[in-house]
Amino acid sequence: MNLSIVIPLLNEEESLKELHDWIVRVMRSNHFLYEILFIDDGSTDTSWQVIEQLSRTNENVKGIRFLRNFGKSQALHAGFDTAQGDVIITMDADLQDNPEEIPGLYELITKENYDLVSGWKKKRYDSLISKNLPSKLFNWAARRTSGVKLHDFNCGLKAYKKDVVKNIEVSGEMHRYIPVLAKNAGYKNIAEKVVQHQARKYGKTKFGMSRFINGFLDLITIWFVSKFGKRPMHLFGAMGVLMFLIGLGFALYLGIDKLFIDPTGRLITDRPQFYIALTAMLIGSQMFLAGFLGEMIIRSRKNEARYTISEKLNESAQREPQSL
Ligand code: UDP
Ligand code: MG
Repeated sequence: MNLSIVIPLLNEEESLKELHDWIVRVMRSNHFLYEILFIDDGSTDTSWQVIEQLSRTNENVKGIRFLRNFGKSQALHAGFDTAQGDVIITMDADLQDNPEEIPGLYELITKENYDLVSGWKKKRYDSLISKNLPSKLFNWAARRTSGVKLHDFNCGLKAYKKDVVKNIEVSGEMHRYIPVLAKNAGYKNIAEKVVQHQARKYGKTKFGMSRFINGFLDLITIWFVSKFGKRPMHLFGAMGVLMFLIGLGFALYLGIDKLFIDPTGRLITDRPQFYIALTAMLIGSQMFLAGFLGEMIIRSRKNEARYTISEKLNESAQREPQSL
């Protein structure tokens, strides 16, 4: 199979048929062997019925339905787990991403040997204030902290080599930073391609202003995790030991002073150095402990899914449904 088109969706009933027909047109004219994987992220409208209908007429349509809304990242995660194509394309279900871009992206992965090609909505059709400006700032911060030179991290339209999606874990709301995850996993050939972008035709955006707060928190997390996630002891251990030594220094000074230099002077507990020594040693040992616990957790952690699948279409179950 050449291509898996992974489409996460939440309440997009009006767009699905149109999107499906358009993708199929593109697939046919390029003679691709393909699958379209719809991941229904807990829609409360008739989206799933539309997908069922589509899967009846087109055996290349597969569907995964979540029991409730788990978020776009988890939907992508489920899609990546199931996808079988050599190249995986992700796109939004709202017709903002143009299926005509798929052959071009496919070529870049197969011919130019890129690991990941991210779409770049150079000309956007979203509102200026609520999206364009914050997203510029956001992309700038992501570029600075990650070193991945992309203009548009959050573009839904991306193409991946199969290996890449099988080796990254899209947790939390990390769908915004998949290129960073890929880079952290060791994939270096990351490129971007200017893609067409349309205004949303039906429905409305599923992410409000909270996207920016969450986005920045996720950015801090990913920066932190990529730097120290695999070796928490190097950060917490070092800081903890340093703090502890500072505290110990003050404690020794107080002790020596009291015992040998000025035994009749002020009580140790009346001196400010005492409190510095106390807090520094306490914080130091706490930090050391945090680093140690972090190391223990890393050693015992298994990769767990954080979603629950309720149904699958045209798909032999690869993973047993898991409860939380
Ligand atoms: N989406 C999803 N789960 C969610 C929120 C969104 O699967 O919890 C899907 C949504 O249906 C769409 C894609 O993610 O296919 C992008 O969402 P949206 O168009 O609302 O985001 P925007 O284009 O405004 O960034
Ligand atoms: Mg959209």
